[in-house]
Amino acid sequence: MKKHVVLYKKLSPGLMARLHAQAEVTLIDKLDSDGLTRLRDALPSAQGLLGASLRLDAELLDLAPNLEAVASVSVGIDNYDVDYLSQRNILLSNTPDVLTETTADTGFALILATARRVVELANLVRTGQWKQNIGPMHFGSDVHGKTLGIIGMGRIGEALAQRGHFGFGMPVIYHSHSVKPAVHKRFNAQHRSLPQLLEQADFICLTLPLTAETEGLIGAREFALMRPESIFINISRGKVVDEAALIEALRQGQIRAAGLDVFEREPLEHDSPLLQLNNVVATPHIGSATHETREAMARCAVDNLLAALAGERPLNVVNGEVWDRRRATMCT
Ligand code: NAP
Repeated sequence: MKKHVVLYKKLSPGLMARLHAQAEVTLIDKLDSDGLTRLRDALPSAQGLLGASLRLDAELLDLAPNLEAVASVSVGIDNYDVDYLSQRNILLSNTPDVLTETTADTGFALILATARRVVELANLVRTGQWKQNIGPMHFGSDVHGKTLGIIGMGRIGEALAQRGHFGFGMPVIYHSHSVKPAVHKRFNAQHRSLPQLLEQADFICLTLPLTAETEGLIGAREFALMRPESIFINISRGKVVDEAALIEALRQGQIRAAGLDVFEREPLEHDSPLLQLNNVVATPHIGSATHETREAMARCAVDNLLAALAGERPLNVVNGEVWDRRRATMCT
């Protein structure tokens, strides 16, 4: 008998056809209040779940007593109660790697846009305010040769370092849990404590996950360590930063500019003070949002889910202990 899969994300026709061939599928294509009601109605018989951008907490998971696997269409897993999933023996998978390069592209787009004031000055042209040659008032700052500071030297951090080091001749410094000899060798990068990095980097880029440890990691004390010419880039998760402290740092000129793809609350409210500041470039969480990468992520999630439901190990398992327990049961 086919297993029941509930999707709370629309997939391409090809991926839908693949899923339909192997599972009974319920599609919730919009997570508005009607969609959430339909999701709650579908959960009691669901064996597989696939989607993104929904907080899957114990209360929702308790509606799904038959759930075997959850496939997230994201690398970040901050929307999941991983401990509770493991306790319930539900396998969680995610989609790392396939989005790394695209997300690093987004990071670099924000570096260039903030340093060279691309959005602000393009708007000047668009609104008919370009009347004469621009002067120092509208000059930006160089990117090439400046120090790139990366907080969270994982997959995306490394891809950002690659762009900075090879493309723009930038010295790279980083802060991570662990020192990474391979990164030192490849990019001539240097490990720093967090305060050292904040003091020394021209571009301070966040590429770490949101966890209990990183929530609020960058606040007033950290902005105070940055220099007035520093540019702050966040492509990780909004809650890693104290947004009120960031706004204050920008208002006080403690830092020069900020490029932000993620926010404490998304979508960002239109009346957010961030949007009143010319030195902020804000994008709507577009880190991985290209046609090619979103399709690759969806394909990866479908592969992970179908493998899990067929009793095989998915390529990207988050809670490996669940898989170990299952395998032990299969072997006995
Ligand atoms: P990753 O390979 O796991 O890298 C994360 C890095 O962060 C690791 O190297 C880890 O260091 C470091 N880290 C974790 N906690 C830390 C802490 N408290 N202090 C210092 N370093 C810490 O993950 P990834 O694939 O690069 O993705 C990173 C995050 O980017 C995701 O979790 C997601 O939230 C975000 N993201 C956002 C978008 C977007 O649309 N804007 C797209 C994709 C991903 P160690 O290796 O030393 O443990």
